Order: sequence, then structure tokens, then C-alpha cells
Amino acid sequence: MELIFATHNKHKLLEIGSLLPKNISLRSLDAIGCTEDIPETSETLEGNALLKAQYVLDHYGLSCFADDTGLEVHVLNGAPGVYSARYAGEPKNEERNIEKLLGQLHGLKDRRAQFTTIIALCLGKETHFFKGVIEGVITANPRGSNGFGYDPVFQADGMDKTFAELTFEEKNRLSHRARAFSKLVSYLEAIKEE
Ligand code: IMP
Repeated sequence: MELIFATHNKHKLLEIGSLLPKNISLRSLDAIGCTEDIPETSETLEGNALLKAQYVLDHYGLSCFADDTGLEVHVLNGAPGVYSARYAGEPKNEERNIEKLLGQLHGLKDRRAQFTTIIALCLGKETHFFKGVIEGVITANPRGSNGFGYDPVFQADGMDKTFAELTFEEKNRLSHRARAFSKLVSYLEAIKEE
């Protein structure tokens, strides 16, 4: 089975490529010649994931899945959430996002946060959603240089390292995206056997 993953993010492609069963061949947006940034105009993670997957199905006629992730901080009532990528404004900048977040949490004890990933799968006329969540805390300072986004300031519950201090394999075993993707993979394996 061939599936398009509607992303331009190389980190994500690597993460997901290593999780999918061998009989599923994964292609990226670049591989199908889709170089545009698909507009993410929804106010929900579900809505944005669906916009991206539906776009590829409508414009290229190919089955596709897309993900959207948000970092949800408890004392900020779930912010930055669906606005995580551009939290500090345009243009998108990961260091400034982290600075803004640490500034808002400065001196606060409650640092609980979670990453939530929603995947939308458009398989012909059918649409399915899969969700993955990981709970943790926002650290006082950035630590580590692996990964991307908010990884240097997110520490999963039960861990003493931030996501950016974990190896690629360690993060991939427990991350929000891995959790959502393992549900997608189970679903794809089940329909393959029908
Ligand atoms: P996206 O919808 O998956 O592109 O994620 C939106 C934003 O959330 C990204 O621009 C990152 O800032 C952040 N993000 C998503 N996934 C991760 C992750 O695995 N680690 C850290 N930050 C992430």
C-alpha cells in the first residue's frame, strides 16, 4: 500500500518511517511534487490535520494522512495548543516560542503540560482520526540539542531528561506522535488482513 504523509518536516518523516510496517511505502509531499504549504486555518488540531490530508486527496487523488500537534500547558488553559508553531508570532521561530513560554511560566510552580497529536487518515472516501498524548512538565531552562520545537523544555513524566536530551529512538518510543502513529499502524495492519 502506498500512503502519502502530508508533511515537509524531515524529522517527522524519519520518525514515522521507522514505525510503519515494511509493506506500506511512505511518500512525502516533496516526493509527489507538492511544494506548497497547505493552509492550516482551523482552530482545532483535528481540523488542521484533516485540511492537510484532504488537500492531498483532492488535488492528487492519493490516500494520505496528516498530523497536527499542539503543546498544551495547564496553567495557560491549553495554550499554545493549535497555535504552537507560531506562538511568538510570524515568522515561525522555535527559539522565540520557547522564550515566550518560559517567560509566561517564570516563577510558577505548576508546570504541567502535554503534547497532543491528532492524525487524520483519508483513505478513499473514508476518514479516520487517531490521537496520541504524552504528559509531562515544562522545565525551568532549555536542555539538550536533539529533536525540534519545544523538545528542549519538555520533560515527560517519569523521565529526568528533556525530549531534546533523549536519543531519536528513545523519543520515538514514547512520544505523542509515536502513540498516535502506533494506533494508525494497528488500524492499517487490521484492514490489510480483512
Ligand atoms: P505540527 O502541527 O506537528 O507541525 O506541530 C506544531 C508545532 O508544535 C511545531 O512547530 C513545534 O513547535 C511543536 N511540536 C510538534 N511536535 C513536536 C515535538 O515532537 N517536539 C517538540 N515540539 C513539537
